[in-house]
Amino acid sequence: MDEYIKIRLSELNGYIDRKVHIYGWIEDKRILGNIIFLTIRDGWGKTQITVKREDKSIYNLALATRRQSIVSIYGRVNKYGDTIEVIPHKYYIVSEAEHPLPIDPTGRTPASLPKLIEYRPLSLRIPVVNAIFKLRGLALKLSREYFNEIGCTEINTPKIISTATEGGADLFKVDYFDKDAYLAQSPQLYKEEMVMGLGMVYEIAQYYRAEKSHTRKHLTEFTSVDFEGAYINYEGAMEVLTGYIKYLLERIPREGKEYYEILKYTPPQAPGDIKTIKYSEAIQIIKKEGKEIRWGDDLDSEALSILAERIGGFYYIIDWPWSLKPFYIMRKGDLSESFDLMYNDLELSSGGTREHRYRELKKNIIEKGLNAETFEYHLRHYKYGMPPHAGFGLGLDRLMLILTGRENIREVVLYPRDPETIVP
Ligand code: ATP
Ligand code: MN
Repeated sequence: MDEYIKIRLSELNGYIDRKVHIYGWIEDKRILGNIIFLTIRDGWGKTQITVKREDKSIYNLALATRRQSIVSIYGRVNKYGDTIEVIPHKYYIVSEAEHPLPIDPTGRTPASLPKLIEYRPLSLRIPVVNAIFKLRGLALKLSREYFNEIGCTEINTPKIISTATEGGADLFKVDYFDKDAYLAQSPQLYKEEMVMGLGMVYEIAQYYRAEKSHTRKHLTEFTSVDFEGAYINYEGAMEVLTGYIKYLLERIPREGKEYYEILKYTPPQAPGDIKTIKYSEAIQIIKKEGKEIRWGDDLDSEALSILAERIGGFYYIIDWPWSLKPFYIMRKGDLSESFDLMYNDLELSSGGTREHRYRELKKNIIEKGLNAETFEYHLRHYKYGMPPHAGFGLGLDRLMLILTGRENIREVVLYPRDPETIVP
């Protein structure tokens, strides 16, 4: 059947009156007297297959094919009015779907989030769920575009590590032959090292935190967009981050238009600029609202909701007490050259100027109560011409909440991992 051209369902428009070969799953089947209308989708587009009773063998096959089965169809593309249909000449059932289905892929009967996750491959056929993950893919593409355009090199750092990169206790231990190893909680020290020769780098990868958090914004495995650049301080890193947020928010509504129509959601407008408040100003604002808080305290969820209420949208909180930040952040007396990027009460990113001086860095490690010796294989590089540098890590899953208008991080991750869930 050489004269049939194999195409995707998104290409039908260009093949009116031509003979095509298409694949897809049957989303819907309507029987109207002597005609069966099948709606089929293939992951790129959809079409209607119109089967007349006169075509007896195809009619009977179509009648017998259960929804969600995969079919292969050879036929002619027909256009009447605004509708495009395929009139089948040959019809094959390629892969059958067993019934009853565990979830309703038309989305008409809503399934619970755990069920959607349990049957993720099938739930990707629900238009809203499909749109979320298409947008996630688009956000990843645009992220790479942005960082490449500004002159970064994409890197891949190890996820199996021998010691804590940040000295935290939140590490998952793994058996590594006769040694203990850990899963990386961030690429922090590795990405910093790479600016020595690559200038500016970025990495998009998964990281692991053994925190027993049960919130809408924490997972034990999450995806981070990391940036690190030489010859800049935290203000330069904030410029890169603001540019990134703008780039995404300008492009994704256009490139993801069809998905936003399905979601019936408009992402926030690209900010002209992102407001900045100092940590000490944030403390004043929170105090004014009657909450007890002292300089040096971390901002808990109550404090962050006050800021969300009083400031809102995207904003930076800068100049945090050094005591609240990790050892690698540049110290300025009791303060640090650091920032968090917030969206309402949600922390999206943390970053700052890094300490690039060997002696100072070693001093900071000791001051944070960590063992400098275990960091030596990182530290030694700082002796051979480490440039001043700055960077940030941004939670991609959290950003997807904003880009898709979802509430729970589990909705934007294919197979979320939390303290209770490692299956499927
Ligand atoms: P939080 O205080 O919200 O737990 P954090 O300050 O511990 O976050 P960082 O170490 O600053 O997190 O990591 C950088 C970014 O990575 C965070 O701003 C966040 O967007 C994301 N991130 C960190 N931990 C998680 C997690 N467990 N699940 C999802 N995203 C996370
Ligand atoms: Mn943080």
